[in-house]
Amino acid sequence: MMRSFIPVPENSDFPIENLPYGVFLPPGASKPRAGTAIGTQVLDLKGLEECGLLGTSVFGGTTLNAFMAAGRPVWSTGRSRLQELLSEENAEFRDNGSLRRSLLFDQHTVQMVLPADIGDYTDFYSSKEHATNVGSLFRDPENALLPNWLHLPVGYHGRASSIVVSGADVKRPKGQSKPVDGVPGFGPSRLLDFELEVGFFTGPATAMGEAVSIDKAADHIFGFVLVNDWSARDIQAWEYVPLGPFLGKNFATSISPWIVTLDALEPFRCAGPTQDPVPLPYLQTDEEWSFDIALEVGIKPENGEEHVVCRSNFKHMYWNICQQLAHHTVGGCNINAGDLMASGTISGPEKGSFGSMIEITWRGTDPVQMPDGSERKFIADGDSVIMRGHAEKDGLRIGFGEVSGKVLPAS
Ligand code: CA
Repeated sequence: MMRSFIPVPENSDFPIENLPYGVFLPPGASKPRAGTAIGTQVLDLKGLEECGLLGTSVFGGTTLNAFMAAGRPVWSTGRSRLQELLSEENAEFRDNGSLRRSLLFDQHTVQMVLPADIGDYTDFYSSKEHATNVGSLFRDPENALLPNWLHLPVGYHGRASSIVVSGADVKRPKGQSKPVDGVPGFGPSRLLDFELEVGFFTGPATAMGEAVSIDKAADHIFGFVLVNDWSARDIQAWEYVPLGPFLGKNFATSISPWIVTLDALEPFRCAGPTQDPVPLPYLQTDEEWSFDIALEVGIKPENGEEHVVCRSNFKHMYWNICQQLAHHTVGGCNINAGDLMASGTISGPEKGSFGSMIEITWRGTDPVQMPDGSERKFIADGDSVIMRGHAEKDGLRIGFGEVSGKVLPAS
Protein backbone atom coordinates (compact mmCIF):
# COMPACT_ATOMS: atom_id res chain seq x y z
CA MET A 1 0.00 0.00 0.00
CA MET A 2 1.13 3.56 -0.70
CA ARG A 3 0.86 6.24 1.94
CA SER A 4 0.41 9.98 1.63
CA PHE A 5 1.43 12.69 4.07
CA ILE A 6 -2.13 13.95 3.64
CA PRO A 7 -4.36 12.06 6.08
CA VAL A 8 -6.78 9.65 4.42
CA PRO A 9 -9.59 8.47 6.75
CA GLU A 10 -10.37 4.77 6.90
CA ASN A 11 -12.91 3.76 4.23
CA SER A 12 -12.27 6.96 2.29
CA ASP A 13 -13.13 6.77 -1.40
CA PHE A 14 -10.02 8.80 -2.17
CA PRO A 15 -6.74 7.19 -1.10
CA ILE A 16 -3.48 8.01 -2.89
CA GLU A 17 -4.10 5.00 -5.18
CA ASN A 18 -7.23 6.69 -6.56
CA LEU A 19 -6.52 10.37 -7.36
CA PRO A 20 -9.63 11.02 -9.47
CA TYR A 21 -9.81 14.18 -11.58
CA GLY A 22 -12.45 16.86 -11.30
CA VAL A 23 -13.05 20.57 -11.71
CA PHE A 24 -13.87 22.75 -8.72
CA LEU A 25 -14.49 26.35 -7.66
CA PRO A 26 -12.28 27.29 -4.72
CA PRO A 27 -14.03 29.36 -2.01
CA GLY A 28 -14.62 32.88 -3.31
CA ALA A 29 -13.13 32.17 -6.74
CA SER A 30 -14.87 33.00 -9.99
CA LYS A 31 -13.06 30.55 -12.29
CA PRO A 32 -13.09 26.77 -11.86
CA ARG A 33 -9.82 24.82 -11.77
CA ALA A 34 -8.75 21.22 -12.28
CA GLY A 35 -8.17 19.26 -9.12
CA THR A 36 -7.75 15.85 -7.61
CA ALA A 37 -9.33 14.41 -4.48
CA ILE A 38 -7.26 12.90 -1.70
CA GLY A 39 -8.83 11.98 1.63
CA THR A 40 -11.06 14.92 2.57
CA GLN A 41 -9.03 17.42 0.55
CA VAL A 42 -8.98 18.79 -2.98
CA LEU A 43 -5.61 19.57 -4.52
CA ASP A 44 -5.44 22.39 -7.06
CA LEU A 45 -3.71 20.89 -10.12
CA LYS A 46 -3.62 24.14 -12.07
CA GLY A 47 -1.66 25.74 -9.24
CA LEU A 48 0.61 22.74 -8.90
CA GLU A 49 1.31 22.79 -12.63
CA GLU A 50 1.96 26.54 -12.65
CA CYS A 51 4.70 26.25 -10.06
CA GLY A 52 6.42 23.64 -12.21
CA LEU A 53 5.94 20.66 -9.91
CA LEU A 54 3.88 18.51 -12.28
CA GLY A 55 5.90 18.72 -15.48
CA THR A 56 2.72 18.92 -17.59
CA SER A 57 0.91 21.74 -19.34
CA VAL A 58 -2.63 20.40 -19.56
CA PHE A 59 -4.45 21.93 -16.58
CA GLY A 60 -4.54 25.59 -17.64
CA GLY A 61 -8.20 25.64 -18.70
CA THR A 62 -11.47 25.42 -16.84
CA THR A 63 -12.18 21.82 -17.97
CA LEU A 64 -10.25 18.58 -18.22
CA ASN A 65 -10.63 18.35 -22.03
CA ALA A 66 -6.98 19.21 -22.75
CA PHE A 67 -5.79 16.53 -20.33
CA MET A 68 -8.19 13.99 -21.84
CA ALA A 69 -6.92 14.88 -25.31
CA ALA A 70 -3.29 14.37 -24.28
CA GLY A 71 -3.59 10.58 -24.28
CA ARG A 72 -2.53 7.63 -22.19
CA PRO A 73 1.24 8.32 -21.90
CA VAL A 74 0.49 11.76 -20.38
CA TRP A 75 -2.29 10.31 -18.21
CA SER A 76 0.07 7.68 -16.82
CA THR A 77 3.11 9.88 -16.22
CA GLY A 78 0.90 12.62 -14.75
CA ARG A 79 -0.63 10.15 -12.35
CA SER A 80 2.74 8.68 -11.31
CA ARG A 81 4.16 12.15 -10.71
CA LEU A 82 1.13 13.14 -8.63
CA GLN A 83 1.45 10.01 -6.51
CA GLU A 84 5.15 10.74 -6.04
CA LEU A 85 4.44 14.33 -4.93
CA LEU A 86 1.78 13.21 -2.46
CA SER A 87 3.68 10.27 -1.01
CA GLU A 88 4.85 10.25 2.57
CA GLU A 89 8.52 10.10 1.60
CA ASN A 90 8.61 12.99 -0.85
CA ALA A 91 9.50 16.41 0.64
CA GLU A 92 8.95 18.61 -2.46
CA PHE A 93 5.32 19.46 -1.68
CA ARG A 94 5.12 18.01 1.84
CA ASP A 95 7.58 20.49 3.33
CA ASN A 96 6.39 23.53 1.40
CA GLY A 97 3.88 24.89 3.92
CA SER A 98 2.85 28.00 1.99
CA LEU A 99 2.21 26.00 -1.18
CA ARG A 100 0.18 23.44 0.75
CA ARG A 101 -1.90 26.21 2.30
CA SER A 102 -2.62 27.77 -1.09
CA LEU A 103 -3.30 24.58 -3.07
CA LEU A 104 -5.21 22.30 -0.66
CA PHE A 105 -8.89 22.84 0.17
CA ASP A 106 -11.39 20.98 2.33
CA GLN A 107 -13.77 19.22 -0.01
CA HIS A 108 -16.80 20.67 1.76
CA THR A 109 -15.62 24.23 1.08
CA VAL A 110 -15.39 23.91 -2.69
CA GLN A 111 -18.09 23.67 -5.33
CA MET A 112 -17.68 20.91 -7.88
CA VAL A 113 -18.64 21.71 -11.48
CA LEU A 114 -18.84 19.62 -14.67
CA PRO A 115 -15.38 18.12 -15.28
CA ALA A 116 -15.46 18.51 -19.05
CA ASP A 117 -17.01 20.36 -21.90
CA ILE A 118 -19.08 17.38 -23.03
CA GLY A 119 -19.51 17.59 -26.79
CA ASP A 120 -21.44 14.38 -27.30
CA TYR A 121 -23.25 11.97 -25.05
CA THR A 122 -24.12 8.38 -25.92
CA ASP A 123 -26.13 6.01 -23.77
CA PHE A 124 -25.84 2.27 -24.23
CA TYR A 125 -28.24 -0.43 -23.10
CA SER A 126 -25.71 -3.08 -22.14
CA SER A 127 -27.16 -4.96 -19.16
CA LYS A 128 -28.90 -8.13 -20.31
CA GLU A 129 -30.93 -8.27 -17.10
CA HIS A 130 -32.14 -4.67 -17.57
CA ALA A 131 -32.94 -5.13 -21.26
CA THR A 132 -34.84 -8.33 -20.44
CA ASN A 133 -36.79 -6.69 -17.61
CA VAL A 134 -37.68 -3.60 -19.65
CA GLY A 135 -38.50 -5.70 -22.72
CA SER A 136 -40.88 -7.73 -20.57
CA LEU A 137 -42.51 -4.63 -19.09
CA PHE A 138 -42.82 -2.56 -22.30
CA ARG A 139 -43.47 -5.43 -24.71
CA ASP A 140 -43.58 -9.19 -24.28
CA PRO A 141 -41.94 -11.40 -21.62
CA GLU A 142 -41.60 -14.20 -24.20
CA ASN A 143 -39.56 -12.04 -26.58
CA ALA A 144 -38.07 -9.51 -24.20
CA LEU A 145 -34.71 -9.26 -25.98
CA LEU A 146 -35.03 -8.08 -29.56
CA PRO A 147 -33.08 -10.12 -32.18
CA ASN A 148 -30.17 -7.64 -32.43
CA TRP A 149 -29.43 -7.39 -28.70
CA LEU A 150 -27.01 -10.33 -28.35
CA HIS A 151 -25.09 -9.27 -31.48
CA LEU A 152 -24.31 -5.59 -30.84
CA PRO A 153 -24.23 -3.09 -27.98
CA VAL A 154 -27.52 -1.24 -28.50
CA GLY A 155 -27.36 2.49 -27.74
CA TYR A 156 -28.71 5.91 -28.69
CA HIS A 157 -27.27 9.38 -29.05
CA GLY A 158 -28.32 11.38 -25.99
CA ARG A 159 -28.40 15.05 -25.16
CA ALA A 160 -25.17 16.64 -23.87
CA SER A 161 -26.60 20.09 -23.05
CA SER A 162 -28.66 18.83 -20.11
CA ILE A 163 -25.91 16.89 -18.33
CA VAL A 164 -25.49 18.32 -14.84
CA VAL A 165 -23.11 17.62 -11.98
CA SER A 166 -24.08 16.05 -8.68
CA GLY A 167 -26.00 18.42 -6.42
CA ALA A 168 -27.94 20.11 -9.21
CA ASP A 169 -31.73 19.99 -8.80
CA VAL A 170 -33.79 18.35 -11.53
CA LYS A 171 -37.19 19.73 -12.47
CA ARG A 172 -39.90 17.15 -13.15
CA PRO A 173 -40.49 17.22 -16.91
CA LYS A 174 -43.80 17.76 -18.64
CA GLY A 175 -44.73 15.92 -21.78
CA GLN A 176 -47.16 13.75 -23.70
CA SER A 177 -48.32 10.37 -22.54
CA LYS A 178 -50.30 7.54 -24.14
CA PRO A 179 -53.71 8.59 -25.45
CA VAL A 180 -56.85 7.85 -23.52
CA ASP A 181 -59.89 7.84 -25.86
CA GLY A 182 -57.65 8.95 -28.71
CA VAL A 183 -56.30 12.12 -27.06
CA PRO A 184 -52.72 12.10 -25.73
CA GLY A 185 -52.28 13.18 -22.13
CA PHE A 186 -50.12 16.20 -21.34
CA GLY A 187 -48.69 17.34 -18.04
CA PRO A 188 -45.99 16.66 -15.45
CA SER A 189 -44.57 13.15 -15.76
CA ARG A 190 -46.20 10.82 -13.24
CA LEU A 191 -43.63 8.07 -13.72
CA LEU A 192 -40.30 9.79 -13.07
CA ASP A 193 -37.49 7.26 -12.67
CA PHE A 194 -33.73 7.02 -12.27
CA GLU A 195 -31.33 4.73 -14.12
CA LEU A 196 -28.17 3.57 -12.32
CA GLU A 197 -25.28 3.75 -14.80
CA VAL A 198 -21.52 4.14 -15.06
CA GLY A 199 -20.17 6.30 -17.88
CA PHE A 200 -16.73 6.78 -19.38
CA PHE A 201 -15.10 9.92 -20.77
CA THR A 202 -13.21 9.52 -24.04
CA GLY A 203 -9.63 10.57 -24.66
CA PRO A 204 -7.79 11.60 -27.82
CA ALA A 205 -10.02 12.49 -30.75
CA THR A 206 -10.26 10.30 -33.83
CA ALA A 207 -10.83 11.34 -37.44
CA MET A 208 -14.06 10.74 -39.30
CA GLY A 209 -13.89 7.46 -41.16
CA GLU A 210 -11.46 5.99 -38.65
CA ALA A 211 -12.59 3.09 -36.45
CA VAL A 212 -11.13 2.48 -33.00
CA SER A 213 -10.25 -1.21 -32.93
CA ILE A 214 -11.18 -3.12 -29.82
CA ASP A 215 -7.50 -3.60 -28.93
CA LYS A 216 -6.90 0.16 -29.02
CA ALA A 217 -10.15 1.16 -27.33
CA ALA A 218 -8.64 1.54 -23.84
CA ASP A 219 -6.24 4.19 -25.18
CA HIS A 220 -9.30 6.35 -25.77
CA ILE A 221 -10.97 5.74 -22.39
CA PHE A 222 -9.92 8.29 -19.79
CA GLY A 223 -12.00 7.29 -16.78
CA PHE A 224 -15.39 6.72 -15.23
CA VAL A 225 -18.17 8.61 -13.45
CA LEU A 226 -21.47 7.52 -11.96
CA VAL A 227 -24.42 8.47 -14.13
CA ASN A 228 -28.10 8.93 -13.28
CA ASP A 229 -30.02 8.80 -16.55
CA TRP A 230 -33.26 10.38 -15.32
CA SER A 231 -36.16 8.86 -17.24
CA ALA A 232 -39.84 9.78 -17.54
CA ARG A 233 -41.43 6.41 -18.23
CA ASP A 234 -44.87 7.70 -19.29
CA ILE A 235 -43.33 10.10 -21.82
CA GLN A 236 -40.90 7.40 -22.98
CA ALA A 237 -43.59 4.74 -23.47
CA TRP A 238 -45.61 6.94 -25.86
CA GLU A 239 -42.77 8.53 -27.86
CA TYR A 240 -40.12 5.81 -28.26
CA VAL A 241 -41.53 4.10 -31.37
CA PRO A 242 -39.92 4.02 -33.90
CA LEU A 243 -36.77 6.11 -33.20
CA GLY A 244 -36.10 5.51 -29.51
CA PRO A 245 -35.69 7.73 -26.43
CA PHE A 246 -36.27 11.48 -26.82
CA LEU A 247 -38.06 13.79 -24.34
CA GLY A 248 -38.40 10.97 -21.82
CA LYS A 249 -34.62 11.25 -21.35
CA ASN A 250 -33.39 14.63 -22.59
CA PHE A 251 -34.48 16.85 -19.67
CA ALA A 252 -31.57 15.89 -17.37
CA THR A 253 -28.67 13.49 -16.80
CA SER A 254 -26.66 13.76 -13.57
CA ILE A 255 -23.03 12.69 -13.18
CA SER A 256 -20.65 12.39 -10.22
CA PRO A 257 -17.96 15.10 -10.18
CA TRP A 258 -14.81 12.96 -9.83
CA ILE A 259 -13.54 10.97 -12.82
CA VAL A 260 -11.94 7.74 -11.59
CA THR A 261 -9.24 6.69 -14.03
CA LEU A 262 -8.83 3.37 -15.77
CA ASP A 263 -5.39 3.17 -14.10
CA ALA A 264 -6.92 3.45 -10.62
CA LEU A 265 -9.43 0.71 -11.40
CA GLU A 266 -6.89 -1.66 -12.97
CA PRO A 267 -6.79 -3.95 -9.86
CA PHE A 268 -10.55 -4.46 -10.16
CA ARG A 269 -10.76 -5.73 -13.73
CA CYS A 270 -12.61 -9.01 -14.02
CA ALA A 271 -14.29 -11.28 -16.53
CA GLY A 272 -17.72 -10.28 -17.78
CA PRO A 273 -20.67 -12.57 -18.44
CA THR A 274 -20.14 -15.31 -21.04
CA GLN A 275 -21.19 -14.01 -24.44
CA ASP A 276 -23.28 -16.47 -26.40
CA PRO A 277 -23.46 -16.25 -29.37
CA VAL A 278 -19.81 -15.30 -29.90
CA PRO A 279 -19.74 -11.66 -31.13
CA LEU A 280 -18.50 -10.71 -34.60
CA PRO A 281 -14.69 -10.41 -34.87
CA TYR A 282 -14.56 -6.60 -34.43
CA LEU A 283 -16.19 -7.08 -31.01
CA GLN A 284 -13.95 -9.92 -29.86
CA THR A 285 -11.27 -9.49 -27.20
CA ASP A 286 -9.38 -11.97 -25.03
CA GLU A 287 -8.86 -9.35 -22.34
CA GLU A 288 -11.07 -8.91 -19.32
CA TRP A 289 -12.74 -5.52 -19.49
CA SER A 290 -15.39 -5.77 -16.82
CA PHE A 291 -14.88 -4.12 -13.43
CA ASP A 292 -15.93 -5.26 -9.99
CA ILE A 293 -17.49 -2.02 -8.73
CA ALA A 294 -20.20 -2.18 -6.06
CA LEU A 295 -23.04 0.28 -6.73
CA GLU A 296 -26.03 1.42 -4.72
CA VAL A 297 -28.96 3.77 -5.03
CA GLY A 298 -30.75 5.52 -2.17
CA ILE A 299 -33.91 7.63 -2.15
CA LYS A 300 -34.04 10.42 0.43
CA PRO A 301 -37.38 12.20 0.83
CA GLU A 302 -37.30 15.90 1.65
CA ASN A 303 -36.37 16.14 5.36
CA GLY A 304 -36.58 12.34 5.55
CA GLU A 305 -34.29 9.38 5.99
CA GLU A 306 -32.45 7.83 3.06
CA HIS A 307 -33.54 4.35 2.03
CA VAL A 308 -31.32 2.16 -0.18
CA VAL A 309 -33.44 0.63 -2.95
CA CYS A 310 -30.77 -1.06 -5.10
CA ARG A 311 -27.40 -2.77 -4.69
CA SER A 312 -25.83 -3.74 -7.99
CA ASN A 313 -22.39 -4.20 -9.57
CA PHE A 314 -20.79 -2.89 -12.76
CA LYS A 315 -19.48 -6.41 -13.50
CA HIS A 316 -22.98 -7.47 -14.55
CA MET A 317 -22.66 -5.58 -17.85
CA TYR A 318 -22.95 -7.92 -20.82
CA TRP A 319 -21.16 -5.61 -23.30
CA ASN A 320 -17.92 -4.12 -21.96
CA ILE A 321 -16.52 -0.61 -22.47
CA CYS A 322 -14.08 -1.62 -25.23
CA GLN A 323 -16.81 -3.38 -27.16
CA GLN A 324 -19.00 -0.30 -26.77
CA LEU A 325 -16.34 2.05 -28.14
CA ALA A 326 -15.31 -0.32 -30.95
CA HIS A 327 -18.93 -0.64 -32.00
CA HIS A 328 -19.62 3.10 -31.71
CA THR A 329 -16.80 3.92 -34.15
CA VAL A 330 -16.81 0.91 -36.48
CA GLY A 331 -18.85 2.76 -39.09
CA GLY A 332 -16.48 5.73 -39.04
CA CYS A 333 -18.08 7.93 -36.36
CA ASN A 334 -15.36 10.13 -34.89
CA ILE A 335 -15.04 10.83 -31.18
CA ASN A 336 -13.66 13.86 -29.34
CA ALA A 337 -11.91 14.25 -26.02
CA GLY A 338 -14.62 14.77 -23.43
CA ASP A 339 -17.41 12.73 -25.00
CA LEU A 340 -19.42 10.82 -22.43
CA MET A 341 -20.56 7.25 -23.04
CA ALA A 342 -22.82 5.70 -20.43
CA SER A 343 -23.34 2.01 -19.84
CA GLY A 344 -27.10 1.75 -19.72
CA THR A 345 -28.93 0.74 -16.55
CA ILE A 346 -26.90 -1.74 -14.52
CA SER A 347 -29.30 -4.37 -13.23
CA GLY A 348 -28.10 -7.56 -11.62
CA PRO A 349 -29.91 -10.89 -11.62
CA GLU A 350 -31.77 -10.52 -8.31
CA LYS A 351 -34.66 -8.21 -7.49
CA GLY A 352 -32.59 -6.17 -4.98
CA SER A 353 -30.06 -5.41 -7.71
CA PHE A 354 -32.35 -3.80 -10.28
CA GLY A 355 -31.12 -0.36 -11.35
CA SER A 356 -34.39 1.52 -11.96
CA MET A 357 -37.73 1.97 -10.18
CA ILE A 358 -39.70 0.53 -13.09
CA GLU A 359 -37.87 -2.75 -12.48
CA ILE A 360 -37.68 -2.52 -8.66
CA THR A 361 -41.44 -1.96 -8.33
CA TRP A 362 -42.28 -3.93 -11.49
CA ARG A 363 -44.03 -0.95 -13.03
CA GLY A 364 -45.56 0.13 -9.74
CA THR A 365 -47.18 -3.21 -8.88
CA ASP A 366 -44.82 -3.81 -5.94
CA PRO A 367 -44.06 -0.41 -4.34
CA VAL A 368 -41.03 0.32 -2.18
CA GLN A 369 -41.88 0.85 1.52
CA MET A 370 -40.04 3.90 2.84
CA PRO A 371 -38.87 4.29 6.48
CA ASP A 372 -41.38 7.13 7.05
CA GLY A 373 -44.29 4.83 6.17
CA SER A 374 -44.84 6.26 2.70
CA GLU A 375 -44.37 4.19 -0.43
CA ARG A 376 -42.75 4.82 -3.79
CA LYS A 377 -43.69 3.45 -7.17
CA PHE A 378 -41.55 6.10 -8.87
CA ILE A 379 -39.73 9.25 -7.67
CA ALA A 380 -41.72 11.90 -5.77
CA ASP A 381 -41.17 15.67 -5.74
CA GLY A 382 -38.66 16.57 -3.03
CA ASP A 383 -36.91 13.18 -3.25
CA SER A 384 -33.16 13.11 -3.69
CA VAL A 385 -31.77 10.16 -5.62
CA ILE A 386 -28.26 9.30 -4.45
CA MET A 387 -25.93 6.85 -6.21
CA ARG A 388 -22.61 5.61 -4.85
CA GLY A 389 -19.92 3.30 -6.16
CA HIS A 390 -16.69 1.79 -4.94
CA ALA A 391 -14.31 -1.07 -5.63
CA GLU A 392 -12.63 -2.88 -2.75
CA LYS A 393 -10.02 -5.64 -2.54
CA ASP A 394 -7.18 -6.59 -0.17
CA GLY A 395 -7.62 -3.45 1.93
CA LEU A 396 -7.61 -1.13 -1.10
CA ARG A 397 -10.75 0.94 -1.65
CA ILE A 398 -11.22 3.05 -4.76
CA GLY A 399 -14.43 5.05 -4.65
CA PHE A 400 -16.44 7.44 -6.80
CA GLY A 401 -18.06 9.53 -4.09
CA GLU A 402 -21.66 10.07 -5.10
CA VAL A 403 -24.03 11.57 -7.61
CA SER A 404 -27.16 13.05 -6.09
CA GLY A 405 -29.98 15.12 -7.46
CA LYS A 406 -33.20 16.42 -5.93
CA VAL A 407 -36.45 16.41 -7.88
CA LEU A 408 -38.32 19.72 -7.94
CA PRO A 409 -41.99 19.98 -8.91
CA ALA A 410 -42.85 20.72 -12.54
CA SER A 411 -43.50 24.38 -13.23
CA1 CA B 1 -30.18 4.78 -19.82
